Amino acid sequence: MSDKILVTRSSMPDMEEYIDEIKSLWDSHWLTNMGEKHIRFESMLKDYMEVENIELVVNGHMALEMTLQAYEFPEGSEVITTPFTFASTTHAIVRNGLVPVFCDIDEETYCIDATKIEALITDKTVAILPVHVYGNVCDIEAIDDIAKRNDLKVIYDAAHTFGETYKGVGIGKYGDASCFSFHATKVFNSIEGGAVCYNESWLGNKIFELKNFGIHDAETITAVGANAKMNEFAAAMGICNLRHVDEEISKRELVCNKYVESLKDVEGIRLNPLIVNNNGDVKPNYAYFPIIVDDEYGESRDELFERLTNNDIVARKYFYPLINDYECYRDRFSSDDTPVAKNISNRVLTLPMYADLTDEQIEKICRVISRRMK
Ligand SMILES: *Cc1c(COP(=O)(O)O)cnc(C)c1O
Repeated sequence: MSDKILVTRSSMPDMEEYIDEIKSLWDSHWLTNMGEKHIRFESMLKDYMEVENIELVVNGHMALEMTLQAYEFPEGSEVITTPFTFASTTHAIVRNGLVPVFCDIDEETYCIDATKIEALITDKTVAILPVHVYGNVCDIEAIDDIAKRNDLKVIYDAAHTFGETYKGVGIGKYGDASCFSFHATKVFNSIEGGAVCYNESWLGNKIFELKNFGIHDAETITAVGANAKMNEFAAAMGICNLRHVDEEISKRELVCNKYVESLKDVEGIRLNPLIVNNNGDVKPNYAYFPIIVDDEYGESRDELFERLTNNDIVARKYFYPLINDYECYRDRFSSDDTPVAKNISNRVLTLPMYADLTDEQIEKICRVISRRMK
């Protein structure tokens, strides 16, 4: 093992705990297709996430893709979304034969700028797909109001907001549906995994069928489904990790506080407003520690990234490039249409963030950033 400080480190239970959890699978020989672990994990999540309805799936991407598919929007319909996100969000739209319409983001939350949504609505718009970036919560009330007035669906990409509440309510309860990721690199993982939280029961039933080839019953196949079921070993990992997630999040909070303490006075380094001035509406999960490198810092984001790399510190330009600049999209879109997102994307770095990051590691990272170390 090198002593590189990685950007994240997957949470794992003690090996014995996991082995204990999977032992029963050698009795049942039931390895996938909504077995005992799947059922239990789903019900544990419902409690933990404070939601009424949840459907487990194989990963966060398929959660998004199948939720969009479930609505059966006409081909070519438009979905208003953000370019400041992970590839998955836009790919889910395009892979459904729908057209992404990129809205700029808010300078403070890095989430979609709700004041700019309405100007993008056309007679083809069917939905809004906002992302709660870094666990910062979108302007839920404004988005809800726009959706209601324009008869649009709201599907949140909630991959970064596991375990969060907004105004005391589980984040998954907002919108028509919220899609979560339990990927190994996320704040909570089931190795690979995901879930859709939804409000109307037809949507849950539909996703249940879509994740299993569209099979309604043995002789009735009602939809062109995929195979997106979570297997029992993944569910067992989720069950184990869920027992420790509160402790993990508390440790992340400590890491975050140490970062804030050391970096808050570094000129030209902007910290995440949710973390520095949380007004109490959001219960955060400390999933990421983004910093924005402003001109006053005197070095560009890329120069700082270089120096961190030279010191064996892996930071991430997350999210860079912007989706509307991707090879596969840039002939159709331009990041010039979303200048705030472009600016943030050119300045952002997410610092190493995981529960077991040590004080020495945090200090080293902060020494490099505050230039007490080359
Ligand atoms: C991780 C992530 C996804 C995709 O989730 P997977 O479980 O990796 O498929 C989607 N959107 C965002 C914003 C993500 O960070």
